[in-house]
Amino acid sequence: MVDFADNPEQAAFRSHVKEFIASRLPPELKLKPDEVRGFDEEDPEEKKEALGRWRAALTENGWIAPMWPKEIGGANLSKQEQFIVNEEFAAAGAPRLTVHTVGSTIMVHGSEEQKREFLAPMVRGETRWCQGYSEPGSGSDLASLQTRAVRDGDDFVINGQKIWTSGAHLANMMFMLVRTDPDAPKHRGITYLLLSMETPGISVRPLKQMSEASGFNEVFFEDVRVPVRNAVGEINRGWYVGATHLDFERSGIGQSVGQIQTLDALKGFIGDPAEQQRGRSKVAEKPVLRHELADRYTEAEVAYCFSRRVISMEAAGQIPNYESSMAKMFNTEFSQRMARTATKTLGLYGGLFSETDDGYTPMKRRWSRMYLSTVSATIAGGTSEIQRNVIATRGLGLPRG
Ligand SMILES: Cc1cc2nc3c(=O)[nH]c(=O)nc-3n(C[C@H](O)[C@H](O)[C@H](O)COP(=O)(O)OP(=O)(O)OC[C@H]3O[C@@H](n4cnc5c(N)ncnc54)[C@H](O)[C@@H]3O)c2cc1C
Repeated sequence: MVDFADNPEQAAFRSHVKEFIASRLPPELKLKPDEVRGFDEEDPEEKKEALGRWRAALTENGWIAPMWPKEIGGANLSKQEQFIVNEEFAAAGAPRLTVHTVGSTIMVHGSEEQKREFLAPMVRGETRWCQGYSEPGSGSDLASLQTRAVRDGDDFVINGQKIWTSGAHLANMMFMLVRTDPDAPKHRGITYLLLSMETPGISVRPLKQMSEASGFNEVFFEDVRVPVRNAVGEINRGWYVGATHLDFERSGIGQSVGQIQTLDALKGFIGDPAEQQRGRSKVAEKPVLRHELADRYTEAEVAYCFSRRVISMEAAGQIPNYESSMAKMFNTEFSQRMARTATKTLGLYGGLFSETDDGYTPMKRRWSRMYLSTVSATIAGGTSEIQRNVIATRGLGLPRG
């Protein structure tokens, strides 16, 4: 039997987190069963005041950046404690306001001046960052990127294009990879830069997704001047800076708790006697859907175990490698299977084409929106094929193709 029980200190900490959420989370921010949190959407106006209160409450505890030292606004939590915070926030449907992972990169590789300039505003929520890595010809093979930065006195002058930049339309800061030495081997001529999105010469063009969201963008650079002192780490060694993923929780526990809640919402819908009367669930007509649901619940347990495995490695001071790839690949492919099962369960009531929450679109089209939005999950952050390559080579030790 696998025993996931907390030890007494962890149990006490968990109770503290639960009490904190119960007493401080503004009710209007709690995720509702028919709500899906979109990626990089603007916070709705009516929730902004509540979000401010919630941010202030989190800041008191250092939980905006729980892994950082207390001196710079963190809470110095252990990996296990971070896991508990993430698990309980997900279970309560509480928004997880947190610093961008660029903060941990600055913490590890940044100069003292950069730490002073960039970390505190991040904790206060004054900066919103986007990631300028991918380019039209450089996604999986990121090291082939072409956006050029040429040194001119104390500045770099940037020309080129980034794409799929999530949240660039809302961000006021970007961290990006640029080519500073075109003659060096491709991993060695790259520099990691920080810049304001208000710098002259930057233009942002939103890209519309099939799920109707406009979460990501193309970003163009035309003679954009960035001070050389904004390079993080050594010039031309930015590839290794960009590969830093130290110091943040990456078990995906929030996602796997969310997946179980999503399945529970579907189960609740199917089991609701009023719905059975109404006939919008197809389970009675298609008993095979029962088996599909059983499969999805089984997979939800597997996803949860992957999260546990990653966190227990991190807690033991190990750095998960192919294990994170397994978790990412499984989780994202599972979310697509879940969306397919849900839309099949609703049949035509899946509501793909209807705009309103009338009698034909139960749960505000939650399932069809999920069906469309999870397509990109197996691409973002490294495609499933790339994750399989990592598992095959680093995990199984198979030769590279
Ligand atoms: C929702 C979303 C948000 C994103 N946000 C950002 C962001 O904020 N910032 C940013 O910089 N980027 C972002 N991206 C871009 C993302 O990192 C890239 O889309 C991803 O790395 C894949 O690159 P690509 O789209 O260029 O596809 P390609 O690399 O061109 O791949 C095309 C196909 O070929 C396959 N393939 C490629 N190489 C191999 C190989 N060696 N072996 C086997 N198969 C291979 C891929 O799996 C894929 O199926 C985002 C993407 C999505 C979908």
